[in-house]
Amino acid sequence: MSPEEFRSAAHEAVDWIAGYLRDVRHYPVLARVRPGELTDLLPASGPERGEPFEEIFRDFRDLIVPATTHWNHPRFLAYFANSASGPGILGELLCAALNSNHMLWKTGPSAAELEQVTLGWLRQWLGLPEEFFGNIHDTASTATMHAILAAREAAAPQIRLRGEWPSLALYTSEHANLSVDRAALAAGLGRAAIRHIPVDGGFRMIPRALESAIQADLAAGKTPFCVVPTLGTTSSASLDPLPEAAAIARRYGLWLHVDAAYAGPAALLEEHRGILEGVELADSLVLNPHKWLFVPMDLSILYTRRPEVFRRALSLEETPAYLQAGRQERAVNFADYALPLGRRNRALKLWFVLRYYGREGIQRVLRAHMEMARDFARQVEAHPDFELAAPVMFSLVCFRYRGSDDDNRALLDRVNATGDAFLSGTVLKGKFALRLAIGNIGTTAGDVRAVWDLIRASAHPQGEAPRAP
Ligand code: PLP
Repeated sequence: MSPEEFRSAAHEAVDWIAGYLRDVRHYPVLARVRPGELTDLLPASGPERGEPFEEIFRDFRDLIVPATTHWNHPRFLAYFANSASGPGILGELLCAALNSNHMLWKTGPSAAELEQVTLGWLRQWLGLPEEFFGNIHDTASTATMHAILAAREAAAPQIRLRGEWPSLALYTSEHANLSVDRAALAAGLGRAAIRHIPVDGGFRMIPRALESAIQADLAAGKTPFCVVPTLGTTSSASLDPLPEAAAIARRYGLWLHVDAAYAGPAALLEEHRGILEGVELADSLVLNPHKWLFVPMDLSILYTRRPEVFRRALSLEETPAYLQAGRQERAVNFADYALPLGRRNRALKLWFVLRYYGREGIQRVLRAHMEMARDFARQVEAHPDFELAAPVMFSLVCFRYRGSDDDNRALLDRVNATGDAFLSGTVLKGKFALRLAIGNIGTTAGDVRAVWDLIRASAHPQGEAPRAP
């Protein structure tokens, strides 16, 4: 592609993106396709000869876009909603253009230093301890796997050196994200090594149960090594009691990894700073700017107080000749701290977002999202046909139609089938509940009110008379 051809194709693509961002709310949120439908529309084998950009782009518009579920839609309210904000998209575009790879400082000085600078800014804004070293991963799942590898290295270096395994035990709550279990499996632990600690009525890990489980394992000759509390659990955004979990981890000499993938950004607000109480005792913490910080997929940050353990966990006796970089003051070789050798400059899009909105702009959106969630919850509480299924935390509301699980599942399907909104579900206290998760930068109070109308109308599809609100 010549630079001139690139220029005209890029203008077309960027024009399309601008229109898409303006019009995204007119698309059905959830793709209206059957599995395999797109595959059947695409050629079974790749082209022998190159094709003109116009044809590729036409197929993008006509085939790919209709088979897309629009996470950038303001009424995408499922899972933990996210956003590719304008500045984030531009950062992503420029990242691909520079195609930098900062496995070593010298192979990508700007990327290596921007990663340190942006994560330093965010660390200050979150009030995290100054000694926390940050590095960027693709997802929280990968970041947590690295944290567990580091925890394993700290507790049992003989695994890396000689492949000798003590009987390790890891503790997380029964409401932890599945990524914790999968990270433990990837780090070589068997499922039997993972303890799911029960939660209280607010879906928070019970510290007493955590300590009892550790004591039982010690008595049985096992090696407790890691505790993973969650700030903002996936089902209900509950907060495990970090100060208590941290004190217990400290008492027994266990690695403390905090999963703040969703709720971490809330600590940018003074009134929510307290959620990080106890974090100064953490060995590592993960949070996802690609969830609630308006950065396009994917970008997850792992902070650690003990970067040297991450280095050790993945170190060989000797660096191969082709990678030797020598030591230079202030030169961070990020490949030393994580499994991937090649790294793209994800910090660029974070830098664009942090600078474009500033701390104040980001705080304003986070507060607005939480206010919309509280407002929605008030409507749910006031309606005789609906009830809250969990305390409202941050920008997530879990609620139920007062009926059976089947009624609630059918309601969710009816709402989602309209294409006007997309919500997800979970099970809380044995009952199916709907989740309304606000996290898209374009979501307005009007969207949330319209979705509430849609939910109420969908609860009585055959014109059954609803009970008076
Ligand atoms: N931790 C929590 C609390 C989550 O809610 C999620 C995903 O929703 C994850 C971890 C996994 O995040 P990722 O998709 O970045 O691996």
